[in-house]
Amino acid sequence: MAVMTSSARRPLLNRRLAEFGTTIFAEMSALALSTGSINLGQGFPDTDGPEEVREAAVRALRDGRGNQYPPGPGVPELRAAIAAHQERRYGLTYDPGTEVLVTAGATEAIAATLLALVEPGDEVIALEPYYDSYAACIAMAGGTRVPVTLRPHEETGADGAVRRRFRLDLDELRDAVTDNTRLLLINTPHNPTGTVLTREELTAIAELAVERDLLVVTDEVYEHLVFGGSEHVPLATLPGMRGRTVSIGSAGKTFSFTGWKVGWVTASPDLVTAVRSAKQFLTYVSSGPFQYAVAEALALPDTYFDAFRADMLAKRDLLSAGLAEAGFGVFTPAGTYFVTTDIRPLGVSDGFAFCRALPERAGVVAIPNAVFYDHRDAGAPFVRFAFCKQTSVLEEAVSRLKTLATVA
Ligand SMILES: *Cc1c(COP(=O)(O)O)cnc(C)c1O
Repeated sequence: MAVMTSSARRPLLNRRLAEFGTTIFAEMSALALSTGSINLGQGFPDTDGPEEVREAAVRALRDGRGNQYPPGPGVPELRAAIAAHQERRYGLTYDPGTEVLVTAGATEAIAATLLALVEPGDEVIALEPYYDSYAACIAMAGGTRVPVTLRPHEETGADGAVRRRFRLDLDELRDAVTDNTRLLLINTPHNPTGTVLTREELTAIAELAVERDLLVVTDEVYEHLVFGGSEHVPLATLPGMRGRTVSIGSAGKTFSFTGWKVGWVTASPDLVTAVRSAKQFLTYVSSGPFQYAVAEALALPDTYFDAFRADMLAKRDLLSAGLAEAGFGVFTPAGTYFVTTDIRPLGVSDGFAFCRALPERAGVVAIPNAVFYDHRDAGAPFVRFAFCKQTSVLEEAVSRLKTLATVA
């Protein structure tokens, strides 16, 4: 007969992870299925990336390259390609031998970096709303997260047009730093707001990091999805930052192969060694044949990256215009493949309730931004839609959403 022990009565999930139940994505994807809705919730493309990159993976697999454990830091071809990409795009030079580490997507890069650098009691500052894995990884590392909230802001451009964007309050950031702050976790272009931090904002972050001697981790997985007049500025290019910044990239978003899970870290040798110490006990290695394919992808000519960006820009504009027409307040994103909207012009203010009802009401699934906040009230009226979908799918979504304007 089973004896009830105190350990049997203890909840199975440990205290560090208890607050992270199942994600909203599972609930919303299930709703999409049961209602036959268009799923603009989760951010993955509904078409694969370039044929030649897919063929490169097939070739690697057939040639027996990467079918067994690849080298711990990643295959040399990919490490060289990552270093060449950083040099070609940003003038940043990294030694492929000691300053580049291949990971199982940016997700593992984030996890390994935080597990390597954060001690229990350390504070980690992250921009809120934040990508959902940040909070869980800070918790697994025993750190304390300190959110700094991006605030909605309206500005009038030189052309007289009003633009809405989420903006970093630099005073709030400065006030969040304490003697226990270990690192700043920055994401630009920013998911879910679509904000691309400006050179001025990034310069202020860099000055603060130097002044308070902080490490900086930057999640740049949308580096190639920056639109219009905006510019992606890697923090590592700014004065005093090269030696204190862990830069994280990924092939998933840039090449529309999110299932391949090839990501990377570039940083100084001491930082890469630290991150690798954690990474070797997570996956050790991953994605063997795909590493060779991504090496070829990173070397694609600028025409690929330009066409990819132009395609996503057209999709951004299609969905943004449709959402505005349906009555949403639209924060036209400067980057990423998400558009954040304000539902208050529709006469409601609870994003959770709105997203739970939207599939039934309009046949579209979106994500309430509040799930990406500690200060849930600050995110309550905002809702995120993904536009990395086929044009015909977006057109159908827009036509379904039009009904909201008439029945709201
Ligand atoms: C998608 C995403 C990731 C995860 O990237 P993978 O390479 O798929 O692990 C990390 N950060 C942000 C901001 C993302 O949107």
